[in-house]
Amino acid sequence: MHTKIIATIGPACREKHMIASLVRQGVRIFRLNFSHGGAQDFADIIKVIREVEGQSKASLTILQDLSGPKIRTGDLKESPMTVNSGDEVNMGPSELQEQLPRYIPFDHVEILADLNTGDIVRVSDGGLKFEVLNRQDGVVRLVASDAGIITSRKGISFPGIRTSIAALTAKDEKDLVDGLKLGIDAVALSFVQGPEDIAQAKDIIEEQGTWIPVVAKLEREVALKRLEEIIDIADAVMVARGDLGLECPLPSLPTLQKRIISSCNESATPVIVATQMLLSMVNNPMPTRAETTDVANAVLDGADCLMLSEETAIGKYPLECVGYMAQIAEEAEKLFFEKESSPIRPVKSGGETFLAFAACLMAQKVDARALVAHTDSGFTARLISSCRPVQKIFGLSPNSNMQKYMNFSWGVISIHIPEEPADHLQRTENFVEGYPGFCAGDELIITAGHPKPGQERSLTNLLKVYRK
Ligand code: ATP
Ligand code: MG
Ligand code: MG
Repeated sequence: MHTKIIATIGPACREKHMIASLVRQGVRIFRLNFSHGGAQDFADIIKVIREVEGQSKASLTILQDLSGPKIRTGDLKESPMTVNSGDEVNMGPSELQEQLPRYIPFDHVEILADLNTGDIVRVSDGGLKFEVLNRQDGVVRLVASDAGIITSRKGISFPGIRTSIAALTAKDEKDLVDGLKLGIDAVALSFVQGPEDIAQAKDIIEEQGTWIPVVAKLEREVALKRLEEIIDIADAVMVARGDLGLECPLPSLPTLQKRIISSCNESATPVIVATQMLLSMVNNPMPTRAETTDVANAVLDGADCLMLSEETAIGKYPLECVGYMAQIAEEAEKLFFEKESSPIRPVKSGGETFLAFAACLMAQKVDARALVAHTDSGFTARLISSCRPVQKIFGLSPNSNMQKYMNFSWGVISIHIPEEPADHLQRTENFVEGYPGFCAGDELIITAGHPKPGQERSLTNLLKVYRK
């Protein structure tokens, strides 16, 4: 499988044996949603993921997802609360929860004060719709328009009522610093509005004396207007369909997904498709036909990574979910190789871009076993990945942060290599010679940077056919 799978960690999959099984099924990135836990909750999970990583030999990336300014319900006393169409519920400040039945605590009193009879309230990524009946003593009475379940800390939205918000809240800044101390490998920013938000997160990371990739979650309409600028600065992009589907007209969601993905593919920026990919599997061991098609289409659209949320966090069938996702992705990739002209010719110009394309063409012509890219910044591996070659891409980097970043790229097997010897080509050839997956006689396509005499390092400028 070339497509990468991201699994959200939650009560359903936090045990070591589950994490190990998820890795065996194909998960390479684990997402920790800081809307549903803090550093103290995730510290042990991070340890467990590292243990599994040590035992499995697969490189695993831990992605911290920051809450952002999302408005959520409080902690429900009655959780889960089952709601049927026509049911009436109360929504108001937490301190009144004990006094009223069927109560959704919600502490943004200024928003409650703005609600009027007939206004719409949506809970759980829009999954449940309510209408406001009346408001009395700070408590709003709602009637449900459809049926569903509400649990604590679910996203809640008020279509038509605008909230002014910065992407990085004080909580997010603290969570990011705490996360870096715990050893997260990447961070996702929720509700990004423009490139400044990404720059702000990058500054915080730099102040902490390190570098990790920043993923821009696209879920606001304003962000789509600045897509190119965001792609320029972000290290990866997520089509965060949950909130994006609330902000934008729902019928436009499939085409927005395709537009975002193709812009990311053109810039060789890894792109993740997220939310409700196999949602029915929270309760069922099998996906719906529409879900299987959604997963396959995301791969055919050009997604690098597919993400599971409640399916793995709180669902009954986390392993089956990943199993289905991997099989569907593989089938979609087969179709892609049959139908499309792999490798894809890059849209953007540039020497390194065309060197990556040439490497893929060469791999095709000599029927190479794999492409092997030595890359300091991961850029060459991303460029090769964006050409979507049939062969696997081995991304070698001595920089462990870059090596974790390469896990986001389609088809890239990310390998950490020692800094010795100084010559990158020699390092790469040493890896090829020592790697048990390559046999004597295999042809490998190698790319590396080869500096001029007197230069310390260079961009990727070398393409070599190497026979083991
Ligand atoms: P976002 O908008 O950031 O996606 P979300 O509330 O949709 O937020 P997800 O991470 O997509 O959260 O997960 C879906 C659901 O799974 C959550 O609403 C929550 O009920 C549950 N969940 C996720 N992570 C955890 C966790 N660590 N502990 C408990 N429940 C979790
Ligand atoms: Mg979020
Ligand atoms: Mg979600």
